[in-house]
Amino acid sequence: MAGEPQADCLFCKIVSGDVPATVVRETETVVAFRDINPQAPTHILVIPRVHHPDAASLAAAEPAVAADVLREAGEIAAAENVDGSGYRIVFNTGSGAGQTVFHAHAHLLGGRGLQWPPG
Ligand code: IMP
Repeated sequence: MAGEPQADCLFCKIVSGDVPATVVRETETVVAFRDINPQAPTHILVIPRVHHPDAASLAAAEPAVAADVLREAGEIAAAENVDGSGYRIVFNTGSGAGQTVFHAHAHLLGGRGLQWPPG
């Protein structure tokens, strides 16, 4: 059922603690942890505890939780001191756009110059 933990989902396993992660923030609805393959000095994944395959599905089903993801990403950017120099919040959606884990997640990237358009 939408929102329920999926046995084969890596990020559900991080939420449950079955897979370890370097967690930087946890709330009732959101978990944030450092990306295992960082693409910037600050590269943190902000995920909802509930399982939805991508950001749009999350926002359609549980808009308040989608807002929590965005708010936490901004607060973490400030806590990581990347808000002054600028940062990026990315939701890769679909394998053609580089999505590899089909549990909604925001990439928070900062701490270096960021080019536009992204590759
Ligand atoms: P996507 O490619 O947008 O789906 O992002 C998935 C991200 O998860 C990638 O940036 C991976 O480096 C990251 N990732 C994969 N496995 C782990 C893990 O076990 N811990 C932390 N990050 C992970």
